[in-house]
Amino acid sequence: MATKLYDVLVVGTGAGGSTAMKILCEAGLQVCALNSGPRMDPQKDYRGHRQVYDLAFRGYGNPLRLKGKAHQEPYSVEESEYSEGRDLFEHDVAYSNAPGTDWYWKRCKATGGKANFWGRSSARFGDIDFKAADLDGFGENWPVDYAEISPWFSKAERYMGVASTVQNRPSNPDGEYLPPMPFRCIDYIMQKGAEKIGVPYLPDRCAQLTVPHNGHPRCHYCGNCSRGCDVGAFFSPTWFTIPDAEATKNLTLLTNALVRSVLVDENGMARGVAYIDRATRKEVEVYAKVVVLAASCVETAHIMLNSKSRHWPTGLANSSGQLGRNLCEHLYGTPGYGYLPQLLGQPATPDNIADSTVSWMPRWQNLRNPREEKFIRGYSVYMGGGCGEFPGYYGQIEGFGSRFKRDIKRYYPTSVGALIQAPTLPSPTNYVDIDPEKKDIFGIPQLRFHFQWGSNELMMWEHSKQVMIDLFKAMGGELWGAGSEPDRPGTSLHETGVCRFGNDPKKYVTNKWAKTHDVPNLYICDSSIFPSCTDKTTTMPIVAFTMRTCDHMLDSFKKGVHKRA
Ligand SMILES: Cc1cc2nc3c(=O)[nH]c(=O)nc-3n(C[C@H](O)[C@H](O)[C@H](O)COP(=O)(O)OP(=O)(O)OC[C@H]3O[C@@H](n4cnc5c(N)ncnc54)[C@H](O)[C@@H]3O)c2cc1C
Ligand code: SF4
Repeated sequence: MATKLYDVLVVGTGAGGSTAMKILCEAGLQVCALNSGPRMDPQKDYRGHRQVYDLAFRGYGNPLRLKGKAHQEPYSVEESEYSEGRDLFEHDVAYSNAPGTDWYWKRCKATGGKANFWGRSSARFGDIDFKAADLDGFGENWPVDYAEISPWFSKAERYMGVASTVQNRPSNPDGEYLPPMPFRCIDYIMQKGAEKIGVPYLPDRCAQLTVPHNGHPRCHYCGNCSRGCDVGAFFSPTWFTIPDAEATKNLTLLTNALVRSVLVDENGMARGVAYIDRATRKEVEVYAKVVVLAASCVETAHIMLNSKSRHWPTGLANSSGQLGRNLCEHLYGTPGYGYLPQLLGQPATPDNIADSTVSWMPRWQNLRNPREEKFIRGYSVYMGGGCGEFPGYYGQIEGFGSRFKRDIKRYYPTSVGALIQAPTLPSPTNYVDIDPEKKDIFGIPQLRFHFQWGSNELMMWEHSKQVMIDLFKAMGGELWGAGSEPDRPGTSLHETGVCRFGNDPKKYVTNKWAKTHDVPNLYICDSSIFPSCTDKTTTMPIVAFTMRTCDHMLDSFKKGVHKRA
């Protein structure tokens, strides 16, 4: 049987890949998308509305579910009994950590990827990020500036639906917003405290629908987002981009197709991909005129590093030697947690039902002068708390029995905590490569992480702890404590840099359109192209940059640079 040739292959159906699928299919191209795991089915896979007592393991999941799996480590938050149903998370493909590295690599292998369960914080990057190297002399500028990318940020926001307010902050350009998520009682108290210490406290930019939007219903505040939204009231590929792409009838979606490598022709150009069919464990090839990799940052680099050939002896499109390098990440951690005594004895109101970050303290450091602080760049903080489903502060309260239960109730409306989001700087010692010795159960050489926190982000971490001491004092709160150290690297899921984009083919993997310099029919649509990390999250920018890349690719099809199949 003759094998079909597609116009474009898209590897990965997460925020990046599914946006590419949608745009290319809507433009009439024949697209084949490959996804390493099963299709996400909200009817079966989202069990958000069950009560804890209806679940066999009270929400924590079957302790034996990972028995015999290659990668044993359970994932937090999103992988629970509410979503463990059909093997949605990656535990077959193991990875390695170099000595001294403790990278925590969480992967959702179902269609839609991690944005089925994401936190939805969706701020724009600005020139303070794109031109950071000009400002403080460290690292590299991005190959685009704000004026150039801003129309695609608008396009992404209009499509996704982002709730927020206009804030006029120098580090955070304003966008096109739905009405903001209402503040909780705790937010008004914390905002007053923040004002006193000169720190901004504002509504977050949140891709959650406060009003009906583009045929999607408004949020009904059930508080289950991190278990998947069963009505599609926040942006996720499962509810937005994948149905849009499928509606065109131009999409072929292959599930349980774990891509091992990109295939090249006699000139070293991309001609398709080789994947392992998980069901049969057989290797299969599929072909196209153009290949898009969107397997999520480090996995995209993994595929390229595993795509060695006589043309590309160190990995596909790696003449710069930068493939896998410049791994950046957000340092996450809890710089302070405690409670607000003024709320003791107040009635508990279900004010944490949006399950979103609601508020944030956008970067306020190094704005007037890029070297005002001991560290360069800056971080942001999300404040959480309020009456959630589970009293997360239980570990801070001592005691047992009925007294313990009474105290848990007493503190219920009062607890608050902070999450720091601090960018790491690119470092020659932070990178991924292929483990020379280990292969996964499919025979694919494993990805290996090399990563340590650097002094710059550790200074931000210490700085944020002092800010929390000041904030708690200013708002009349009681500080219970702070995390003794940051969370494990990888926790934020905002990794960047391993296929960084830039104009000079000797220094960057892709050009400013995310097309690899070496292989002009190979594009990348995920955060691996971002050459540095900012104080903001990556997903809305992944969608925006993917839209821009696809517009450029379509133009290349029109001009005959790329030929249709
Ligand atoms: C709990 C949680 C909270 C988060 N909060 C936020 C937030 O507030 N704001 C924000 O911006 N981001 C947040 N994120 C991160 C956000 O989800 C990711 O940035 C985003 O989903 C990345 O999209 P992606 O398409 O690059 O990758 P993914 O979503 O990982 O999708 C990659 C897809 O590729 C497939 N794939 C992988 N490898 C292969 C292969 N070899 N072959 C074939 N297919 C493959 C996978 O199956 C997957 O479907 C959060 C994530 C989680 C889990
Ligand atoms: S809180 Fe809103 S967005 Fe989140 S799961 Fe419920 S309805 Fe969906």
